[in-house]
Amino acid sequence: MRTDLLLRNARIRTLAGADHSGTASSLAVWGGRVLAVDEDVEAERVVDLDGAVVVPGLHDAHQHLAWFGLTLGELDLRVRDLDALYAAVAERAASTPDGWIVGAGYDENKLGGHPTREGLERVAPGRRVWLKHASGHLCVVSGAVLRELGLDERPRDVVGGRVSVDADGRPDGRLEEQAQQLLGALVLPYPLDTLVDAIERGGRVSLSQGVTSVVEAGIGGGWIGRSPVELLAYQRAREAGRLPLRVELMVAADVLRPLDAHPDDDLGLGLDLGLRTGLGDDRLRIGPVKVFSDGSLIGHTCALTEEFADTPGESGYLQDDADALRARILGAHRSGWRVATHAIGDAAIDLVLDAYEEAQRRWPRPDPRHRIEHFGVARADQVARCAALGVVPVPQGRFVGEIGEGMLRALGPTRVPWAYRGRSLLDAGCILPGSSDRPVVDGAPLRGMHDLVNRRTDAGTPFAPEEALSGLEALVAFTVGSARASHQEHERGTLEPGRLADLVVLGDDPVTCDPGAIAEIPVLATYLGGEEVFRA
Ligand SMILES: [Zn+2]
Repeated sequence: MRTDLLLRNARIRTLAGADHSGTASSLAVWGGRVLAVDEDVEAERVVDLDGAVVVPGLHDAHQHLAWFGLTLGELDLRVRDLDALYAAVAERAASTPDGWIVGAGYDENKLGGHPTREGLERVAPGRRVWLKHASGHLCVVSGAVLRELGLDERPRDVVGGRVSVDADGRPDGRLEEQAQQLLGALVLPYPLDTLVDAIERGGRVSLSQGVTSVVEAGIGGGWIGRSPVELLAYQRAREAGRLPLRVELMVAADVLRPLDAHPDDDLGLGLDLGLRTGLGDDRLRIGPVKVFSDGSLIGHTCALTEEFADTPGESGYLQDDADALRARILGAHRSGWRVATHAIGDAAIDLVLDAYEEAQRRWPRPDPRHRIEHFGVARADQVARCAALGVVPVPQGRFVGEIGEGMLRALGPTRVPWAYRGRSLLDAGCILPGSSDRPVVDGAPLRGMHDLVNRRTDAGTPFAPEEALSGLEALVAFTVGSARASHQEHERGTLEPGRLADLVVLGDDPVTCDPGAIAEIPVLATYLGGEEVFRA
């Protein structure tokens, strides 16, 4: 028989088999799927890879595609200190005489402090300025914005968030967590055209880094959403040939509401028409519902059982009343949603594990694979519980490198071994996906794999090195692990007959190369469904 494409003379890691040690030297593609490995077949097109390494397409289990794409057009605030940040704002103010000045990616741990409204007034007097923290969990706005929001006269409390004030009780510009939603009145919704542009831009960068599948960790509402009709942006992008890769969309829990279905249907929370997890196809589908239980570790807003090491008296907070969070998780589970709850602090993780356990006890479902996004600071008993309940932890390897120094300070030596685990999750028998949380940190998956293996901050400090993975385990996380976390292991993650023909051609083998060089492995080409979609 004659097939579409034959890749030959390659070092292919198929990742097949129980220990994922499968390899091959040729691979045939037909109709967008793997037809055969190591079989002599005739093909329309034959590509000789000259001994290059091939791995399954990389799959980022938690990132923010549209947010990343938008960021690519915003002021880059990953600068060395506050002076450099203010200089960048001043320059943007001078070059754009009106409209918003929007920047992203600042981290006070690196700058030495948060920017303030006074500082912004000095460099961009009277302008609307909006600077987003790297974590996405807080932002700083200028006095003009605070006045427009009516916050100057009356700083108000927000459930699950905070309008930060100075010693005189006057807002200092910082809006934390749910308080960021106040900004919505001025900046939301984004037009669909803007979102389609961002999705395409972010997707193209992802392909160039070997990413063929992503999970977008929250659309449609809450502080994470950009438009109530955000799904339509993805649909339009796809129709226009501008959706570069495979996307699973998490739906922000704020969007779910009680449904007027028949009482026998036992539907608690849902979307109109009964849309829920699983609808769609292998290019675009609805994934889990995204619930936020707490905030960020480096932003000191995640909910810990004990205080932060560097800010005594503070232990973070939940994003909502505990009972309301539990009710949201139970309601979504009961209605058939897969639930993905953001939980970073161990107090938040306790709450989420309790809720998942209760949900399964009261309304059992086969293999629901609920997830805990980040699973940032997890005690050993929580690891064991996660495994016993079949809950999928979704930690981010790259956090160790990029924001590890801030995490070391926030946690202190006794709790660092709990942070962004790897090895102990595998040993406990958990599914371990690979993810970045892009644009919170660099989303190149080879960088993420590098940090999973090396466990060092970018400054070189060892970070719980006992949690290190092998090169093969890190590769399996970003392929098989992510596929399993999305309940898609029958479709992707390995290169076996019948699976989607998504693959990456690399300049070296992350399994056998020097562990210190994984991040620098060049991506030579990316194939999606057997089509070449990127070439270096
Ligand atoms: Zn995220």
